[in-house]
Amino acid sequence: MAQVITQENLVQLAGKLLAAGKRVIAPVRIDGQVCYQALFFTGEMLPESEYVLPRASFKEFFFPRTECVLRYQYDEKNQARLEEPALDSLPEQVILGCRPCDAASLPILDQVFGWDYKDPFYFKRREKTTVVTIACSRHDEQCYCTSIGYAPDHKAGSDVLLKRIADGSGNAGILPAPDGRRDAGHPNGGQDARGPGKNLASGEGTDTNLRSKLAVCPGLSNGGQDARGPGKYLAEALTEKGQALLAAHKNLFEEAPAAPAVQVTKLEAAFDVEKVKPWLDGHFEDAMWLEIASKCLGCGACAFGCPTCHCFDIVDEGDLKSGRRLKNWDTCSSCLFTVHGSGHNPRASQEQRYRQRVLHKFKYYLEKFKLRACTGCGRCSVRCPVGLDLHEVLRTIAGRSDGPSGTVRN
Ligand code: SF4
Ligand code: SF4
Repeated sequence: MAQVITQENLVQLAGKLLAAGKRVIAPVRIDGQVCYQALFFTGEMLPESEYVLPRASFKEFFFPRTECVLRYQYDEKNQARLEEPALDSLPEQVILGCRPCDAASLPILDQVFGWDYKDPFYFKRREKTTVVTIACSRHDEQCYCTSIGYAPDHKAGSDVLLKRIADGSGNAGILPAPDGRRDAGHPNGGQDARGPGKNLASGEGTDTNLRSKLAVCPGLSNGGQDARGPGKYLAEALTEKGQALLAAHKNLFEEAPAAPAVQVTKLEAAFDVEKVKPWLDGHFEDAMWLEIASKCLGCGACAFGCPTCHCFDIVDEGDLKSGRRLKNWDTCSSCLFTVHGSGHNPRASQEQRYRQRVLHKFKYYLEKFKLRACTGCGRCSVRCPVGLDLHEVLRTIAGRSDGPSGTVRN
């Protein structure tokens, strides 16, 4: 029998989980931005009709931006005492209302955090987390999950998948540019001070794609709401954790006699991702890398918002008596990322660092784990301050798959 939950009862579910001492993470609006946040009260939780995709992924709830992994202290006999965090005391958490492109990052991250050494910090949080995903009933211009092989109702990484029940309004489809994904209070109204630029994909004309991304979004004036308002959702438990959550709160679900029609947005793939790796295999050296990466600032905004970027640095802080060891997010875009103690940097230029990001996601990760380290969420394109658009880069690469090695074909 199909299980259905209303938006009102989703809020009730959040309240019951909070009352039971669980940490509930859901999209909330902070200063005009939609972000995943641990709820203090249920009124903060946004209905799914008010967002396409939160500003950054939820990875910080599995892999915090900074985390103490060890403390040390020397006693009066100069004996070192080590103290490790009590991971068993981490709270159980439920992520409520995430999107499939974020949930799908978890099986990808599982690989890198578990292949040679099982990272206890990541996996303890994985064990203690239940993921309730809402399939996308609309998308925006930056979404390209289907180009990477995912879907607006993809199941990977979710414990429960909710799909909005069709209410006669049809496929809400694509929203005008980015509908709240970009800062509402953009200081210059979203204008790009650089003026018209070169379009990487076509090699000529003005950079209309970038301009549309920077334009003030008409949807922002109403906070990204769509006219459909709060909905009802068909619930499918995909794992034992998901079944347990639904069983424990069955009074919040209605039983529908038959599976109702659902509303899942239709998003066509924009390029053939299978063509990307063969091109990368033969173009470690290519003029395109400099052409693209000359814009890159190395700021790391792309990596920090990305659900699958996972690089970190280990730093010791302290003195001769006591201190701590921290695990901090890092990014291959940073000029310091690969600097050796000698001062030598094997990736000395920004073009080499940008190439590494693309090769890591679409070549090395695929070779090692049979998965690409990208779910097509589009955040790196939205967040990049200079409009470097990975989607456009991948389309260009896929279009050059039969081009001669080492040349740029415009
Ligand atoms: S966000 Fe843009 S400028 Fe910053 S490191 Fe990434 S690609 Fe470079
Ligand atoms: S690389 Fe970009 S599009 Fe792919 S998952 Fe990361 S942020 Fe999203």
